[in-house]
Amino acid sequence: MTTTPSPKAPPKLPLATISRRVDVTHDLWKIWLRPEVPFKFKPGQYCTIGVDGLERAYSIVSSPYEPEVELFIELVPPPDGNLTPILHRMGTGERVSMRPRAKGIFLMQDQYVNHLMLSTVTGVVPYVSILRSYLHDNRRGHRFFVLQGASYHDELTYDKELGEMARNHPGFITYVPTVSRPKEERNQGWTGEGGRVNTLLEKYVAKLGLKPIDTLIYACGHPGMIEDVKVRGAALGFEVQEERFWKDDE
Ligand SMILES: Cc1cc2nc3c(=O)[nH]c(=O)nc-3n(C[C@H](O)[C@H](O)[C@H](O)COP(=O)(O)OP(=O)(O)OC[C@H]3O[C@@H](n4cnc5c(N)ncnc54)[C@H](O)[C@@H]3O)c2cc1C
Repeated sequence: MTTTPSPKAPPKLPLATISRRVDVTHDLWKIWLRPEVPFKFKPGQYCTIGVDGLERAYSIVSSPYEPEVELFIELVPPPDGNLTPILHRMGTGERVSMRPRAKGIFLMQDQYVNHLMLSTVTGVVPYVSILRSYLHDNRRGHRFFVLQGASYHDELTYDKELGEMARNHPGFITYVPTVSRPKEERNQGWTGEGGRVNTLLEKYVAKLGLKPIDTLIYACGHPGMIEDVKVRGAALGFEVQEERFWKDDE
């Protein structure tokens, strides 16, 4: 006799193995996942991973050309955080569930020449994927301006990679990191921009000579930053494309 699975039974999700882990700060880390089934995605999309049925979305750092799926995760400590405290305890060789389909529409909009990309901490993730892919494909014809914000300079993950991209391609990649607490001891020696990334919008729009007709503004990460960028961008006549990692009222 065969048994019919209950319609409410959770789907058996494919697994992915953590092949590598790098800790950035006490609450920020990167993992690389090796999915057990082929996993396709577009730069800017996210995957859904989980442990024991508890699932969350994570934007993908890697480009689709890379053999493993790279993620950059921030710990939301208990009691607020649910999955991240579990993920934070996991290391190489351990497995998570991984939905087989990537999702998301936070993609590069090719029809714009200029792409002004603002992020807070982990919000830089989709831009790294977009830029790695753009450079891998040896594309030209667009210009990218990445403004990356964090409270502290040691949270500015992917800053070396983005800085190198900008140095290697000064004609079409500009990278500006900023720390919102430049006077704090943890930021001692910081000589770059200071202030929240959203407050730099008007300055860099003017400095870079960006115009709404051929520029799209992207905002990813902290919901408060996104709201402010939308207001500032709209006041200057720009379209803003957003990806919120969480809701303000949660
Ligand atoms: C499309 C999408 C892409 C995402 N990509 C990433 C990513 O690349 N890296 C990443 O770390 N997270 C990302 N997130 C957030 C992620 O899905 C989880 O919400 C987050 O990791 C916290 O999970 P949790 O289960 O520990 O806490 P949750 O149960 O999800 O949230 C608990 C509480 O913390 C709030 N919260 C969630 N995240 C944060 C945060 N970073 N800082 C402060 N408060 C927060 C929630 O609003 C809620 O109130 C993304 C979310 C979305 C929707």
